[in-house]
Amino acid sequence: MAKIGINIATGSLQQAEMIVGIDLGTTNSLVAIIHPDTKQPVALKEFNSSSLVPSIVHFDGFGNPTVGEQARTFLETDPKNTIFSAKRLMGKSYQDIKDNAQFFTYKVIDDDTASLVKVQVGNQFFSPIELSSFILKELKNRAEHILKTPVTKAVITVPAYFNDAQRQATRVAGKIAGLDVLRIVNEPTAASLAYGLGLRQDEEKTIAVYDLGGGTFDISILHISNGIFEVLSTNGDTYLGGDDIDRSIMEYWLTEGGITMEELQQHQSLLQSLRLKAEEAKKHLSTHDHFSTNWNGEVLSIKRTDFEQLIIGLINKTIKCCERALQDAKLTIAAIDSIVMVGGSTRVPAIKQAVGAFFGKPVNDSVNPDEVVALGAAIQADILAGNNKDFLLLDITPLSLGIETMGGLMDVLIPRNSKIPTSVGRQYTTHKDGQGSMRISVYQGERDMVKDNRKLAEFNLTGIPGMPAGMPKVEISFLINADGILVVKAKELRSGIEQFIEVTPQYGLTDEQVEGMLMDSITHAKDDMQTRALVEATTEAEQILAVTEKFISKNQQLLTSEEILATAGAMQALQLAVTINDKNLIQNKIEELNEISRPFAERAMDAAVSGALKGKSI
Ligand code: AMP
Repeated sequence: MAKIGINIATGSLQQAEMIVGIDLGTTNSLVAIIHPDTKQPVALKEFNSSSLVPSIVHFDGFGNPTVGEQARTFLETDPKNTIFSAKRLMGKSYQDIKDNAQFFTYKVIDDDTASLVKVQVGNQFFSPIELSSFILKELKNRAEHILKTPVTKAVITVPAYFNDAQRQATRVAGKIAGLDVLRIVNEPTAASLAYGLGLRQDEEKTIAVYDLGGGTFDISILHISNGIFEVLSTNGDTYLGGDDIDRSIMEYWLTEGGITMEELQQHQSLLQSLRLKAEEAKKHLSTHDHFSTNWNGEVLSIKRTDFEQLIIGLINKTIKCCERALQDAKLTIAAIDSIVMVGGSTRVPAIKQAVGAFFGKPVNDSVNPDEVVALGAAIQADILAGNNKDFLLLDITPLSLGIETMGGLMDVLIPRNSKIPTSVGRQYTTHKDGQGSMRISVYQGERDMVKDNRKLAEFNLTGIPGMPAGMPKVEISFLINADGILVVKAKELRSGIEQFIEVTPQYGLTDEQVEGMLMDSITHAKDDMQTRALVEATTEAEQILAVTEKFISKNQQLLTSEEILATAGAMQALQLAVTINDKNLIQNKIEELNEISRPFAERAMDAAVSGALKGKSI
């Protein structure tokens, strides 16, 4: 039963279960929801403050974490215990990050192995997953405080280039924070949704999402059709962003004042205050032509035109990435229907102009570029909550789907993580002569034996006309439609008889169960491989035994009594190997039986051919 809560602030009743959208960013994170009254996405913020929560965790002397604005104040004063950019470490080993190790001012454990990195704070060790979970926990607490209702379900965004391990790590971080992560969504997909792109079922579009944040640049080319977002290509620079723009302004001022960056680095607090002035100048120049300030008893100023000159190189770098992304997607500029701007740095007018000029169209920049990803995540959350029935569920299959084949083996038709809707067909045949029906058992899971997977449905294809084993062609097709409903069809192609069944593949499976099944498949991978090999050998042996027996009884007149005896001996030896479940022995005995039967099988074949020729009238 749904719980109803009372909003203490307004006294109004509200539904307890709210699915939030979370942008877990490298520099900043935030939460958005669909406003229950306006039905529009909004970023959550406390009165008079920003929606952005810096993705920074500071640990005090006792190892207690604080997150956000407060943690940021320790970046300069307590860098060893202040963790920023944890997202850059998600799913990474030290080997992966060692080229950029100097970027991290805190201690990343340097074991130079392929195992996942940990961060050391005092005598405690934290994985990037735990660090991210602190940020998510803070976001959850904030959201609960603002909404006055428990928040337990979320959609979280990740970069399009995140691999499976990084996505899984993000999911686990959510779980540790007490969030049921209903979906991991690509950031460019969320940004497109926030612009309403891809929300119409009949829409087919190609979109470029240009995302320039504080420290990273991503360009993604997406193709949307039937509500399915496909990432065609991604490119970018994981160490390029607004921080570099700030640095170029600092260098400009320092050059004017005849000071080098190295000299200034001796005075950390001056360096930091100059950095803040540079960022202030950059933001000011997004809406003004000139900036001027006092710093350390001097006047610092910069004109917009000079600023634009400073960042030409940086802009061109991003444009080069756009070119490469288009090349990888095998598209020309003309194929791009819309350009979506994401990230605070896209507020710089020169950047917008350059991107628009490159793609030859005005860019979409009406939504707040800091919030656009979270707003899109909220839209996705709302679709998942079932509040917006007009929209498609953009989904992937969490587990593989397949059917049972001979010997209880799982034959996968749709592998896990396939995009839906999808359809696949494969042909099978009978293994007994005159077999009039075929049982189709549908399973979900990653294990090799169906008994270890989950049975979803079963039906019989009946009325197959009598044919020798191996002759009927039964095509089994799996189709998952956009609602996640699986339709399994079986059709015997020679006779045209067919049968189908509908199943809801995810029905009743919680995230924990899906995870459990995936974990099982990893733990049992070796056993499964051995079992599969044994089952396959046994199945082959049984088929050969049946065929040989049939052959002998039909063609006795073609065989010598020695041959009949030798064959019977080899068959017995094979049967014994099957009984004692010895895969290698089975394979040896199959070989031996084949050796013995080959000469007379050839003879029988010749006889059949000459018989067939004789029967033909010319
Ligand atoms: P994000 O990582 O998307 O939160 O982007 C943060 C970056 O956007 C930082 O480098 C900010 O300095 C930059 N930024 C925020 N507002 C502006 C602005 N008005 N003009 C230029 N850059 C901005």
